[in-house]
Amino acid sequence: MKGVKFVNYKKKTVRDIDVKGKKVLLRCDFNIPMNGKTGEIADDKRISSALPTIHYLIEEGAAVIACSHMGRPKGEWKPELSLAPVARHLSALLKRPVEMARDVIGEDAKSKAAALKPGEVLLLENLRYHPEEEQNDPAFAKALADMADLFVSDSFGTVHRAHASTAGIAQYLPAVAGLLLEKELSVMGKALNAPHRPLVAILGGSKVSDKIGVINHLLDIADTVIIGGGMTYTFMKAMGQSIGKSLCEEDKLDYARDMISKARDKGTQLLIPLDNLAATEFSPDAVPIPVEGGMDDALMGLDIGQKTIALFSEAIRHAGTVIWNGPMGVFEFPQFAEGTRAIARAMAESNAITIVGGGDSAAAVEQLGFADRMTHISTGGGASLEFLEGLELPGIACLMDR
Ligand code: ADP
Ligand code: MG
Repeated sequence: MKGVKFVNYKKKTVRDIDVKGKKVLLRCDFNIPMNGKTGEIADDKRISSALPTIHYLIEEGAAVIACSHMGRPKGEWKPELSLAPVARHLSALLKRPVEMARDVIGEDAKSKAAALKPGEVLLLENLRYHPEEEQNDPAFAKALADMADLFVSDSFGTVHRAHASTAGIAQYLPAVAGLLLEKELSVMGKALNAPHRPLVAILGGSKVSDKIGVINHLLDIADTVIIGGGMTYTFMKAMGQSIGKSLCEEDKLDYARDMISKARDKGTQLLIPLDNLAATEFSPDAVPIPVEGGMDDALMGLDIGQKTIALFSEAIRHAGTVIWNGPMGVFEFPQFAEGTRAIARAMAESNAITIVGGGDSAAAVEQLGFADRMTHISTGGGASLEFLEGLELPGIACLMDR
């Protein structure tokens, strides 16, 4: 039987409790990209993603005290990292007023929170204006909690951090998941704990060292683990193949060998590229050269090749669940995007539950136009990776069990 570590993802959500008449402290992820020149919002996806939970709460008669961090003010009141533009935009999207507090736990926030009525929305200032936020300071967490009756966590991107607004606050208030977090937990939690099999995990991206815990955990629980992208070449070298100038982490060769023997011991199928697209230089106008097997000294592998695409696509076609993290090649250069595109297409066309995790992987799937054909694209970069490592995340563990 596959599977070792069991993490409980069955957590209460806003739908499991009565929110009527309650003041809800809602932790959102409004850490959005701002245009440095114009001071305007560069991408509002994270604001629009928060709407379902906010709508739900106000329709059910709660008052919403939203909060978030933005950027890295490092405990300083940097005006360019104020959430005021978020409040204005959120108000436009909600088509109702959103009040902006001038501080986080100060007099302005406290009096506005105290006056808030059911159906109304208040946004606190950037949580990280206080260094106590990232220090998970109990007094700061309690001050946030004192403004509300209930804590709702809807910022998946920060659940791997034990901060005051993501974990500490649950010491002082009943804590449940919002609708965004609910989806992450139900889709990803099921894929890890009780997947529709075969479970195929596809791992790529630049470095083995970023994904050590992920490869290790997925070898435990998956039926097939596929290696592509930059980490291919560390694995190829560990297997005794020549890799030319390809990306390689010499200090991870032993780890790669361990993973190859772990796959054998566990009976997990491990698939590594049979062929690659190589180039003589890492550049946007590098000419792709198809290479089977080992590579000569002048070449570096920048994408998977056609035979590999066929092999990986076949595994995807027979999968019950596919979890993908990490592009198959340097997809930022169009001539090396085909491997990533082909895998995205195979996933889009399969009947499997398809999950994409990781910042660059999510961006690649969006950019290549397959986003709406996946079951789930995880919204957290670091958080998705820690989730896939099977780690217990503090921002999830602190929520009430179902
Ligand atoms: P994610 O953010 O989805 O976890 P990573 O950050 O691990 O993904 O990896 C993404 C990066 O990996 C991309 O910028 C891509 O260009 C790079 N990459 C993929 N394949 C290769 C390769 N063969 N050589 C160098 N870089 C690669
Ligand atoms: Mg990345």
